Amino acid sequence: MLRSVILAAARSKKMEQFVGAAPISRSLVKRFVAGKTTAEAVAVARELASKNLLATFDYLGEDTLDAEQADATRDEYVRLLKALKAEGLSHMAEVSVKLSALGQMFDEESAFARAHEIASVAADAGTTVTADMEDHTTTDSTIATVERLREDFPSFGTVLQTYLRRTEDDSKALAYKDSRIRLCKGAYNEPETVAYQRKLDVDLSYVRCINALMAGEGYPMLATHDPRLVEIAIDRARWYDRDPDSFEFQMLYGIRPTEHERLANEGYRMRVYVPYGDQWYGYLMRRLGERPSNMMFFARSLASKS
Ligand SMILES: Cc1cc2nc3c(=O)[nH]c(=O)nc-3n(C[C@H](O)[C@H](O)[C@H](O)COP(=O)(O)OP(=O)(O)OC[C@H]3O[C@@H](n4cnc5c(N)ncnc54)[C@H](O)[C@@H]3O)c2cc1C
Repeated sequence: MLRSVILAAARSKKMEQFVGAAPISRSLVKRFVAGKTTAEAVAVARELASKNLLATFDYLGEDTLDAEQADATRDEYVRLLKALKAEGLSHMAEVSVKLSALGQMFDEESAFARAHEIASVAADAGTTVTADMEDHTTTDSTIATVERLREDFPSFGTVLQTYLRRTEDDSKALAYKDSRIRLCKGAYNEPETVAYQRKLDVDLSYVRCINALMAGEGYPMLATHDPRLVEIAIDRARWYDRDPDSFEFQMLYGIRPTEHERLANEGYRMRVYVPYGDQWYGYLMRRLGERPSNMMFFARSLASKS
């Protein structure tokens, strides 16, 4: 119930204005978001690399409704990738893009073209791109766009969400050689017809999908903060005789940072998903929706004058 309210608030312009105008403490946003500028993102990449942590950067923004905004998003990714290359950090950092932020909602072809340009700059920098997955109405189109991008950039990655009933089949179909698949539980409010509603069913689906991806020839990216699922993934990697560099773990910036370092120190590839940019509101509300106990942290920050 609380989760639905928070996810609804994530889409509310009025709530956004209210929260944006509140004396929200910098520490709240700073906990989950790297900063607003390219330079701040690069600084975070450097800090993570010093701890042997990989990064993937998400320039915040979604549901782009015009070509100008979509071009500006593409340009920012290009700027960031060039800056990471210039700083010698591109072997440790890639980017995550939302196709909706590149124009998927109004012109799939131009979203494809913008993603292609980003992928080409990433390839030149020696790194990769992963397409985030949004609500279930975009799943087919996102997978189709990624499959086309892979014709030129085989390492272009995408995301599968285990709350969707279809995802076990998608995991099997997409577990081919070099296929980079980020597996997550899913963050949107989805109907019963397409998505499991009980947490246990989502978790069980996650385990079946780990099995499918680890058994295949692709590169699984296990994106979860769930300690049981991390242990199961480690167990399955052993079972399928996988090298530690043939898969990776991923977690969100600011969430379980001690665990990021523990896994990296144990020799696993660990990538931190780092959002940056000034459109932090929708992202932050989704993080709160996932874990309503973060609400107290948020409420304290709103009340704070500092
Ligand atoms: C790298 C990455 C990329 C993602 N990309 C997408 C995407 O493209 N599309 C999409 O729909 N979703 C995406 N997500 C979000 C994902 O779908 C989940 O909503 C989110 O990761 C929470 O699920 P969980 O697996 O961590 O497990 P949960 O069941 O939410 O949590 C399991 C445990 O993790 C810890 N934990 C989880 N969240 C928090 C928190 N906020 N604060 C403190 N502790 C916490 C707690 O110990 C909790 O018991 C992504 C997540 C990650 C990590």
